[in-house]
Amino acid sequence: MSNQESAIFPSYARYPITMVKGEGSRLWDSEGKEYLDLMSGLAVTSLGHAPKQVAERIAAQLDQLWHVSNLFYSENQEKLARMLVDNSCADNVFFCNSGAEANEAAIKLARRYNSKILGKNRYEIITFHQSFHGRTLATLTATGQDKVKDGFHPLPEGFVYAPFNDAAALSSCITDKTCAIMLEMVQAEGGVITAEQGFIDEIVRLCKEHDLLLIVDEVQTGMGRTGKLFAYEHYGIEPDIFTLAKGIAAGLPMGAMLGKAKLRDAFTAGAHASTFGGTPLVSAAAIATLEIILGQKLPEHAAEMGHYAIDKLMEGIAGNPLVKEVRGLGLLIGVICTEPTAAVIADIHQAGVLVVPAGPNVVRLLPNLLVTKEELDEGIAVICRVLAEHAAKKAAGVAE
Ligand SMILES: *Cc1c(COP(=O)(O)O)cnc(C)c1O
Repeated sequence: MSNQESAIFPSYARYPITMVKGEGSRLWDSEGKEYLDLMSGLAVTSLGHAPKQVAERIAAQLDQLWHVSNLFYSENQEKLARMLVDNSCADNVFFCNSGAEANEAAIKLARRYNSKILGKNRYEIITFHQSFHGRTLATLTATGQDKVKDGFHPLPEGFVYAPFNDAAALSSCITDKTCAIMLEMVQAEGGVITAEQGFIDEIVRLCKEHDLLLIVDEVQTGMGRTGKLFAYEHYGIEPDIFTLAKGIAAGLPMGAMLGKAKLRDAFTAGAHASTFGGTPLVSAAAIATLEIILGQKLPEHAAEMGHYAIDKLMEGIAGNPLVKEVRGLGLLIGVICTEPTAAVIADIHQAGVLVVPAGPNVVRLLPNLLVTKEELDEGIAVICRVLAEHAAKKAAGVAE
């Protein structure tokens, strides 16, 4: 398949591979070639492909009820919301279908809380350079990267950008129009950059001092990926709002925006809605997913496997001049290179292992949360071999 043959808008830079089947950590393409999947559909298939226990719950729900309008109560949606609230710092949930939609809800809630509850004309949200918050008009505006904004002007007002991990610069961005600060605890798309504890402590202090809402985008870091159920737990803080999507329903589409009790009355009936938000079918998948994540202590497993993977990668790239650093949190890992990694990643795919970039110079690993040491050994050996080949080619003066 090529972009010329496809009837789909060419907005994705696709790899020339068509996937047809998945099971656990393995994927197969239309030629029958097998891949070890260390990217999990970009942190989505967190229990591996087609996990049996989730499939059974989806199948049972398929016979019962697929969709019901949000004009009615829904048992699965209520149960899932209760589970999320019981296992987080939040008190209320809004369900939607994607990360962008969850962040859009967070932005709307922050503005509405300020106008309707506090009675203040404050609407600016401070976000950070190289952040990523989605592709709707508001969330691409919130995103601190110019490439996602190209050609989409005029953009909504009310977003201000500060350098990440720079507390002094942040405080100078706060004005009498600021209502919230929004960030990822690990900037994932932006290059696997972890927030520093001191930076987060200062954000919490500034939020308190200026009565600002703290919004944490956990779309990629949430649901156990970083070694805690939610990445904010690493910092001993409680955001006012946080958002989820990607790994929440093991591969079925769902997003969620969660918030503290004080925000509840800002979303009065009719204030916000989503037709497909939290359907019985997708909620059944998410309940099963969360039960497995909690029951099998997958955040702890992710922490352990993350340490193991980083150690193995460091060992494997030792002395390789193409690699600057290996870093990450849990199973969100970046191999930071000295030059663009597109050709390296294509060769890793060719060798049967799936990884993704995170910015131009990074090879990112997002294995599923059930990944084994043996699978990591297998994948990391391939990644390090390809990196060594590219370093050797470069030393010999062969152009890419
Ligand atoms: C992927 C991602 C989003 C956007 O999620 P979609 O489901 O693609 O809309 C937002 N924020 C972060 C941190 C992400 O990684």
